[in-house]
Amino acid sequence: MPDLSRYIDLIKKGNVVAFPTETVYGLGADAWNPTAIQKIFSIKGRPSDNPLIVHVSEEDQVHEFSDHIPNSAHTLIEEFWPGPLSLVLPKKTTVLDAVTAGLDTVAIRMPDHDIALELISNAGPLVAPSANKSGRPSPTRAEHVLVDFGEEFPVIDGKATKVGLESTVLDLTGDQPEILRPGSISRKEIEDILGYSVHESFFQHTDRPKSPGQKYSHYKPKAKVRWLEAEEKPKDQDCLYLLLTSDNPGSVNIVDFNNDLDQLAREIYDRFRQADLEGFSTVVIEDFQDMKHPIIPALLNRVQKAIG
Ligand code: AMP
Ligand code: MG
Repeated sequence: MPDLSRYIDLIKKGNVVAFPTETVYGLGADAWNPTAIQKIFSIKGRPSDNPLIVHVSEEDQVHEFSDHIPNSAHTLIEEFWPGPLSLVLPKKTTVLDAVTAGLDTVAIRMPDHDIALELISNAGPLVAPSANKSGRPSPTRAEHVLVDFGEEFPVIDGKATKVGLESTVLDLTGDQPEILRPGSISRKEIEDILGYSVHESFFQHTDRPKSPGQKYSHYKPKAKVRWLEAEEKPKDQDCLYLLLTSDNPGSVNIVDFNNDLDQLAREIYDRFRQADLEGFSTVVIEDFQDMKHPIIPALLNRVQKAIG
């Protein structure tokens, strides 16, 4: 565990600090400090109607933000926290508008990462969107944060993140739970724990999605992103190929994932950023939709957004 005292101090003084979680690096600020939260929006260039997720280190802290916590939330917290599941709950009137972008709900999760939990235990609940400039691929290494925000930016280095995709966002404020953003905790896992079915709304195209983030451009490298065509051979030197299996795994522009979709999820944003650093014009991804794996809806959602 690195020494966190400097970072705890920065947050307590109303500054913004990037830190690792199990999903991606977050850009953290005190959830009760409106000036600090404004800094997040301006540093990221984040649209002001895109709400932030509150990160807690203890279940009790949820009561600071919501006093309508349904049984389903208790069941899911028991099973999945700390972990990559954000729960959307009715907010208390005291929760800052900057956190919820004026919505009457608030999203909360407990990250599964020692550094994140230690930071929150000392500095209090943090709002923390992904620590990238808006629209860019999320950071999964400390270096990615420095590329977006400059070499001097305060980031706690926790090495590469273990999941690599953002949390599942589950709305518990309606008649039936609804997945607003897919993540590594799948619909089936949630349904198995709750014992009934949940909705998904992230593939619907609307101007007013329940999760405002879903309407914005996201996860995009400067390189173009496209699918590998059905009979296409990976022969263009200008392309970085992300393949499920390859006959030619030694090539510098071919990454062979050996059919491991967890690894693809873990590395996809890093590979997008690699393409930009190394000057590839295009990232070409082999279609994984015929495979069976719980991460597929989340991966597909990110690739579709990156294709744009
Ligand atoms: P990021 O922190 O960059 O991973 O983005 C957070 C995501 O959670 C965005 O898609 C937000 O729109 C979504 N979100 C945060 N708070 C809420 C909320 N109260 N209701 C619905 N979606 C939310
Ligand atoms: Mg983000």
